[in-house]
Amino acid sequence: MKTLARTLVLACSCLLSVAAVSRPSEKFTLPDWNKTPVEDRDLGHGVHMLESFGGNIGVLAGDEGVLLVDAEWPQLHDKVVAAVTHISPQPVRYLVNTHWHWDHVGGDGSFGKAGVVIFSSEQTREHIVEAQKGKAAPGTPYAPDAAAIPVVTVVNGVKFHLAGQTVEVIHVPPAHTDGDLIVRYVEADIIQTGDTFFHGFYPDIDQPHGGTIDGMIALYDTLYKMSGPNTRIIPGHGPVANRDDVREYQGMLREVRNRVAKAIAAGMTEDQLVASHPLDDLDKKWGGNLIKAPYLLGIVYEDLKAHQH
Ligand SMILES: [Zn+2]
Ligand SMILES: [Zn+2]
Repeated sequence: MKTLARTLVLACSCLLSVAAVSRPSEKFTLPDWNKTPVEDRDLGHGVHMLESFGGNIGVLAGDEGVLLVDAEWPQLHDKVVAAVTHISPQPVRYLVNTHWHWDHVGGDGSFGKAGVVIFSSEQTREHIVEAQKGKAAPGTPYAPDAAAIPVVTVVNGVKFHLAGQTVEVIHVPPAHTDGDLIVRYVEADIIQTGDTFFHGFYPDIDQPHGGTIDGMIALYDTLYKMSGPNTRIIPGHGPVANRDDVREYQGMLREVRNRVAKAIAAGMTEDQLVASHPLDDLDKKWGGNLIKAPYLLGIVYEDLKAHQH
């Protein structure tokens, strides 16, 4: 299939029931884990962002223990733990999964075994349970592991009261997947978006698990409204952003959507669309990272086709 998560699974040659990749897929070379740092960005108010190869992690440390939002690749688990220990001597007690993709939940099993309580949406839990039915080999993504399955499911939202602060976890309408949670560190004025927002490059949208381009575009209005001029935004991938970055991103994605819609209206096939290089001007700014234009065009083409009347 077409999603980054599936491609990442392919990249580690794991045997999930993966459909044939029908277009030039994104080629991911896994890094040398020993040489991959986990970098700590101190955002104040006890909130930190850990940045590395996979999805960004949010950390809130208090005397009562530590809350983590997302859990990285398992190969980076020891480095994540070391970074958290550097921030606080308190144990990790709670872990929120923003969504089910491996670069965000790969560390769940180790945290679960250590007694950390894992929270997710109902959908994310269901996707993890379903993926584990693939009976992948131990040590590979979504290998059966009861400790890696979220224990608490969030329907609309939940609030944590930790470190003298309020952390709102909000289940938003389908965007990157159908089970996305975004997290708001209220007093610190920080929002963590999971993969509903990448800072600086094209998005990935997991259509087989309910993601939609129109949901992504609509969510940026919500994120913008939730943000003030000084709000820091922890994206799924990329450096810390602000609300203007979200607005600009929405404009880019709307433009991509409009161009693809026009091509569909003109009767172009997906191959013709890709061959016409409709995003060359946008590529300069947005096409230089994980997601390249042919992949994004394929996702948006199929999404709009599927939702045509
Ligand atoms: Zn991700
Ligand atoms: Zn993702």
